[in-house]
Amino acid sequence: MGTYNRYPLTLVSGRGCWLRDDQGHRYLDAVAGIATCTLGHSDRAMRRALKDQLNRLQHVSNLYQIPEQEQLARWLVDNSCADSVFFCNSGAEANEAAIKLARKHGHQRLGIERPVILTAAASFHGRTLAAVSATGQPRYHKGFEPMVEGFETFEYNNLASFEALLARSEANGPRVSAVLIEPLQGEGGVIPGDSAIFQAIRRHCSQREILLIFDEVQVGMGRSGQLWGYEQLGVTPDAITLAKGLGGGHAIGALLVNQQSDIFEPGDHASTFGGNPFACRAGLTVARELERRHLLRNVRERGEQLRHGLETLVERFPNVLHQARGWGLLQGLVLRDDCELNAGAVVKAALDQKLLLVPAGPKVVRMVPALVISRRDVSALLARLERTLQLLQA
Ligand code: PLP
Repeated sequence: MGTYNRYPLTLVSGRGCWLRDDQGHRYLDAVAGIATCTLGHSDRAMRRALKDQLNRLQHVSNLYQIPEQEQLARWLVDNSCADSVFFCNSGAEANEAAIKLARKHGHQRLGIERPVILTAAASFHGRTLAAVSATGQPRYHKGFEPMVEGFETFEYNNLASFEALLARSEANGPRVSAVLIEPLQGEGGVIPGDSAIFQAIRRHCSQREILLIFDEVQVGMGRSGQLWGYEQLGVTPDAITLAKGLGGGHAIGALLVNQQSDIFEPGDHASTFGGNPFACRAGLTVARELERRHLLRNVRERGEQLRHGLETLVERFPNVLHQARGWGLLQGLVLRDDCELNAGAVVKAALDQKLLLVPAGPKVVRMVPALVISRRDVSALLARLERTLQLLQA
């Protein structure tokens, strides 16, 4: 179906941060399958692990014990604030699980008949009906109303807006069961959360037993330079959702919860493919390679190099560029509001320079390369981006 506006580009092979099209042209990839290909394309460890898994077992369903799933869950629990994991196949599906968890928490723990979840304006939580209802961007709702009820929206990084909404929502007694929020808004324009505001939200949630759920689908699994976005903010959530980078390019999602929030019982939730041996082996390979290759350090160093280069471009192109922002290898180059250029045009022009970029809203050009990117490749990325901007300005 025509759900995508695709570029006229057919990519047929890849290695690391480089892709080749069907005409033999090489592209530098700063998209990485939209922040998913953590280890780059056709990574050796991933190829080996998945070949082995394909030769042994791919799928059996959650009717049975799955050692690969247990191992990945163990790694996630050992390396995060969570105590239990539910596996699914995508970010939207992980958020659906979180939304159901929040509703159950509201009913069971707080005695709320119609629980409400607070989410942020400009957020993005996915395209399934509940996830898109949680998404604080009306343009994604248009044409699909009625939305799922039970979501109310406050301004991101605005404590007064959060407190006013909370007070309004609870004027006649407890109604709010959870806050669902991204530690850094990705699709909404690469906007990092404000640590002090998130800490205040944490206090409000703790006082009222409201679940604080972080959507780490884009920022989790090391992209920020820390394993989890919540570490950047110094705030511990009750639950986090993951997908994208977890599978290194393979479909897997997860809801991670602390012990207190582990309230699902058999029959409450399920997913046929969720946590299958193949997807979990991909996730395990990402986890092990993150550690073995010290990739968090690489994200911090290469992220700093990228950020410094982007800031230099902002100085060089003051008529077009406003600022660079983001964490680690999730960086956004923000275009000036008063210039005609939009992010889509920059992304299109970059294609001519054999550089792949992705917009995050109309005015932000996003860079989310593989976490294995080298110093040389970051320099090449910056050089191609500079050439793109020069030609657009000429
Ligand atoms: N949550 C966040 C923060 C995202 O960035 C995305 C996708 O961009 C999603 C959820 C949805 O994930 P998926 O496309 O895997 O359903």
